[in-house]
Amino acid sequence: MTLNENLVQDIVKEVMAKMQISAASTGMHGVFADMNEAIEAAKKAQQVVKRMSLDQREQIITAIRRKTMENAEILARMGVDETGMGNVGHKILKHQLVAQKVPGTEDLHTEAYSGDRGLTLVEMGPFGVIGAITPCTNPSETVLCNTMGMLAAGNTVVFNPHPAAIKTSIYAINLVNEASIECGGPDNIACTVEKPTLETSNIMMKHKDIPLIAATGGPGVVTAVLSSGKRGIGAGAGNPPALVDETADIRKAAEDIVNGCTFDNNLPCIAEKEIVAVESIADELMHYMISEQGCYQISEKEQEALTAVVLQNGRLNRKCVGRSAKVLLGMIGVEVPDNIRCITFYGPKEHPLIAEELMMPILGIVKVKDFAEGLQTAVWLEHGNRHSAHIHSKNVDRITEYARALDTAILVKNGPSYAALGFGGESICTFTIASRTGEGLTSAKTFTKARRCVMTDSLCIR
Ligand code: NAD
Repeated sequence: MTLNENLVQDIVKEVMAKMQISAASTGMHGVFADMNEAIEAAKKAQQVVKRMSLDQREQIITAIRRKTMENAEILARMGVDETGMGNVGHKILKHQLVAQKVPGTEDLHTEAYSGDRGLTLVEMGPFGVIGAITPCTNPSETVLCNTMGMLAAGNTVVFNPHPAAIKTSIYAINLVNEASIECGGPDNIACTVEKPTLETSNIMMKHKDIPLIAATGGPGVVTAVLSSGKRGIGAGAGNPPALVDETADIRKAAEDIVNGCTFDNNLPCIAEKEIVAVESIADELMHYMISEQGCYQISEKEQEALTAVVLQNGRLNRKCVGRSAKVLLGMIGVEVPDNIRCITFYGPKEHPLIAEELMMPILGIVKVKDFAEGLQTAVWLEHGNRHSAHIHSKNVDRITEYARALDTAILVKNGPSYAALGFGGESICTFTIASRTGEGLTSAKTFTKARRCVMTDSLCIR
């Protein structure tokens, strides 16, 4: 059966309406009124998971992949309806990417040493119950990909999702538990509370049965987790610059950068947030962005008006995050046709619409005299987050110098930022990029601890 537009809308409405009632009373799996109960349930489930074979874990992950594919459109619509942010079509692609490219148990590798004195294995074992804090920008994507990696490694997980995306997060948590039950696994491989708050988050961070916390979000949550006294995986904020030099294919750079920046209305933390362009090609780049890529160049007056709407008392206006260019321009009284997908202008690097991580399809261009100045400017704009940076250049030496200077978890060369998530690029997908703590793109092996098993004087057959 193919789902038509009206049918999907009806399903989403029905699901959202059901979830107005207490999640627990609607029979959603993994949802508890109390954080301590949620942790206890995940602990019981982990006792079962840790005795399961890798093959059994893999069967559950395969079922999660199938359910993610089947529910991609529903989850995408729920995310947009509940948070008001993002783009349904792009969110469908993000869920499909999770289903297809988040690794399972194949990600776990054993190290072996053998010699005259026997055999030593370093096996990657589970932590137990992992605490996970998730953002409103990719709510179900993060729940699904975290659960798949954590379960592959033999853990279960308790989520404290962003309150603004709790229904979508609960829907995804229910799906992974259904997948487990259908495969003969336990309920509660992923748990949460009906009403996540900072208090439930604190209970989770301090709980004796939570040895590891994975935080995906802005600087506040990562700092809180890293101050908790527990081991923390910190996937924090970014402000990725895209540098374009005079050796680049300028037309392609315009296309790649605008495609990356506008994906899901710029919600991904890896997405291009501003451009640094060498002045000899800056106007050509702007020309292609406007004439071929649906960019709208705003005047100085419009920049001031947009800044006043987007940043209020120095803080991001949440009503602007993840909104389309057309909606943002509408907020300052500028009407544009539907094909306008990105807002652009020239400005200094200190311009608030350039220096701040906005998560909106706004691409300010900072002109620089040459590559050397561009590199310094890009380092400044990344603010030491060490998260993501991008470059369009055909000079390999410059690309190498840029990569070393920016020192980020992700660096995309001559492509759109989402290639780093495996979308039009090689390798795995994740929505938790551990920039602050250095694990980079997280996967099953990130959620393991090393265990050395030693057999003396036997099993070496060399
Ligand atoms: P946010 O920081 O507002 O919230 C993220 C999560 O942290 C939520 O669950 C929130 O309730 C919780 N939280 C916030 N402050 C907390 C505190 N002091 N103690 C405990 N919990 C706290 O972020 P958001 O708006 O949901 O998401 C956008 C931000 O997340 C951006 O900065 C983006 O770059 C970042 N992000 C990073 C990654 C990554 O993989 N590195 C992925 C997605 C989003």
